[in-house]
Amino acid sequence: MKQSLHLTDDEAEPPSADNALPQGSTHELPVSYRHQLFPHVSDTEWNDWHWQFRHRITTVEELSRYLPLSVRERTRIKLVTAEFPMAITPYYLSLINPADAKDPIRRQAVPSVHELTGEAGREDPLEEHSHSVVPGLVHRYPDRALMVLTDICPMLCRHCTRKREWRKGGWVQNSTRVKAMVDYIGRTPQVRDIIISGGDPLTLSTRRLEEVLAALRAIPHVEIIRIGTRLPVVLPQRIDVELCRMLSKYSPIWVNTHFNHPGEITPEAAAACDRLLRAGVQVNNQSVLLRGVNDTVATQLNLCHSLLRAMVRPYYLFQCDQVRGTEHLWTPVETGLRIIEGMRGHTSGLAIPNYVIDLPDGRGKIPLSPNYVISHTKHELTVRNYEGHISHFANPRPPAVTRHRPVAPTTSGVIPVSEEVTDENRTGVRP
Ligand code: SF4
Repeated sequence: MKQSLHLTDDEAEPPSADNALPQGSTHELPVSYRHQLFPHVSDTEWNDWHWQFRHRITTVEELSRYLPLSVRERTRIKLVTAEFPMAITPYYLSLINPADAKDPIRRQAVPSVHELTGEAGREDPLEEHSHSVVPGLVHRYPDRALMVLTDICPMLCRHCTRKREWRKGGWVQNSTRVKAMVDYIGRTPQVRDIIISGGDPLTLSTRRLEEVLAALRAIPHVEIIRIGTRLPVVLPQRIDVELCRMLSKYSPIWVNTHFNHPGEITPEAAAACDRLLRAGVQVNNQSVLLRGVNDTVATQLNLCHSLLRAMVRPYYLFQCDQVRGTEHLWTPVETGLRIIEGMRGHTSGLAIPNYVIDLPDGRGKIPLSPNYVISHTKHELTVRNYEGHISHFANPRPPAVTRHRPVAPTTSGVIPVSEEVTDENRTGVRP
């Protein structure tokens, strides 16, 4: 049910992207407010992922101990959390500047009244349910399948595509369901690539996760296993030695994580990625383009440069899925195109993610790119480069198909070279 809430000017959304190109280095160090917000928490507790998980901030009363909230804000957050719950790890909360109501980390973590007032969006725009072949297993593309093992996440991101699951409370697939998924994959030989996702699958115990990986690795046609997790970002303490040692046994494993802002790439997060890399687990990043979080060229450059310094590949930049309760975080497609255009040529191709839309109704991802081709004929392309200079590029034609006509041996004993006959000069030649 939509709430009738009157919004004032100070609650207006931030202005859209400022795409001015940054001058010089984009490197800014992330800031932690841990010692200000959690002065009595020992290092042992802080570095224990179970402690972090147990002490998640889930109520407005707890949140108001750390962030200054007016009475009206508290009332509204309470209203929102009745529909879309809240959970923030102490670690992720410590990255929020308490004095900045528009802090980009805060926008991802703290409920906004706009989650209730936005009119647009659907519960399940990607139609994941309709592509489920057995409960929890989505088989949409021929050679890939998605296993959803749990809906539990230590941090509930306000832009989450699977917000619809939050109301069901935390669930984990039982072993009968996991077996049904593995059985389907085992009898479907075209599936060679499995994406394990959630919720966050790394919230499972290492032992439970290993059971799933071992079962998948026992299937000969499963070549690649990818794990979608935001834990390097919101709970890097979970990426411990025991987990990395276990993952290294089931190579090749790829982790796709989800950094959205350079302020998230802290020394702890970079160390978590380093542990994965040393265990032979390649780490890619899939960020989501979010209004007021990362919708400028400068922020994206800073993010992608910081990722590369941490040896993480910027893989995708997603247009935000049109999920109900996330409209205030959407950006126009033009913003994404301007960002990619502002990056291309100004930094290495390695630092530029693929900007994609995941199409509604499960029709898959499509890449979006600024248009550099001004005109295009069979013979030539007229193109512009990143500085606007125009060039002409001769369009190579495919070579004519050739065949060889055998030639009779000569009396001199010299082996003759065969005659080449192209399809063009075949015209008029008797077959
Ligand atoms: S980590 Fe992913 S699945 Fe979990 S709340 Fe965030 S966006 Fe949603």
